[in-house]
Amino acid sequence: MISKQKRSRVYKKSKQKCVFCGSTNKSKFTIDHIIPLSKGGSNAIENMQTLCQRCNRDKGDELNYVFISREFKHVIKFLRIKNNKRNEISTTTT
Ligand SMILES: [Zn+2]
Repeated sequence: MISKQKRSRVYKKSKQKCVFCGSTNKSKFTIDHIIPLSKGGSNAIENMQTLCQRCNRDKGDELNYVFISREFKHVIKFLRIKNNKRNEISTTTT
């Protein structure tokens, strides 16, 4: 159980927003362990960050960098799809 005081310090450290998506909806904030406790992470403030419920669920038990690189892949995929669509359009018009 994280004390109210500790919680507000983590929020402050994370600039009162979800560190992944930037959501400022405080009612959806959760405290996330950067290195999960199951992977040897500690309960120190330095190992905590603010995540919204959605990002926390998406992150699951993975380490930060894994999560980010996975997200980044999504972005690349998205851009590729967009580019493909553009190519399709240009090939059908020529
Ligand atoms: Zn979020």
